[in-house]
Amino acid sequence: MSIDLGQGRVQRVRHDLKRRDLQVLRVASISPHFRSVTFGGAALGDFTSPSFDDHIKLILQADGAEPVLRDYTPRHYDAAAGELTLEFALHGDGPAASWAAQAAPGQRAVVAGPRGSFIIPLDYDWHLLAGDETALPAIARRLEELPAGARALVLLQVADAADRRALRSAAALELQWAESAQQLVEAVRALTLPAGDGYAWCAGEAGMMATLRRVLVEEKGHDRRAIRAAAYWKRGAAGHHENLEG
Ligand SMILES: Cc1cc2nc3c(=O)[nH]c(=O)nc-3n(C[C@H](O)[C@H](O)[C@H](O)COP(=O)(O)OP(=O)(O)OC[C@H]3O[C@@H](n4cnc5c(N)ncnc54)[C@H](O)[C@@H]3O)c2cc1C
Repeated sequence: MSIDLGQGRVQRVRHDLKRRDLQVLRVASISPHFRSVTFGGAALGDFTSPSFDDHIKLILQADGAEPVLRDYTPRHYDAAAGELTLEFALHGDGPAASWAAQAAPGQRAVVAGPRGSFIIPLDYDWHLLAGDETALPAIARRLEELPAGARALVLLQVADAADRRALRSAAALELQWAESAQQLVEAVRALTLPAGDGYAWCAGEAGMMATLRRVLVEEKGHDRRAIRAAAYWKRGAAGHHENLEG
């Protein structure tokens, strides 16, 4: 089922929420602070992730303790092989980042979702994609999904230059890297948004998202219905997730 909520051309799609018991098949180090983990298992049979904006809940359950739930982007789903890959930013302290750092083939893992998808059409005249390490997996996925003829303006913040990487896309890609949230905000501020119908997708730390949304709406006059700004984490708070509206 899909419903247009009047937010421009985007669509929201609901999925049955399902909990899946999986097994770690492979792990790979992408760069100093990024690790990918690929999961498999019969429970992935009807898994679906139609949007790069989707998230699953990784459910970490230590003996006798309350489960810990954290959100992660389905970076890649290979339906033929029945394999789901997540990409973790190794930010230091936190149950999910610590779990990813030690993950090894053969371990069990539980995920739930995605519960819904926010689908942004591919045919905008241009796509602005901006975010920090936590948004990099979603942005890398979006770039792989954009068709030839699309135009993508990408601004990515990674604290360590060794975490910069080549990004694949059929789209015309204009990529800038930033080392800090302030640099990223200044880079967005300095952009001349192209003419035509564009969509701005931003994700990262809550404070930076509030600022980016303000810059796009108030300083650049971008249509607020054509912006998605999601707080993927909040400094000092565990497991924070919020979509900024208004
Ligand atoms: C929809 C959605 C999709 C996401 N997709 C991804 C993804 O694909 N890959 C990914 O790596 N992350 C992703 N995130 C972010 C991830 O869920 C958070 O970073 C989460 O807080 C990590 O959990 P944790 O258990 O490691 O740390 P928590 O227990 O949540 O936090 C512990 C401490 O670490 C801080 N912290 C949390 N994250 C970071 C960070 N990235 N950098 C610095 N400090 C941090 C917190 O403020 C807190 O003080 C996504 C978040 C959302 C909402």
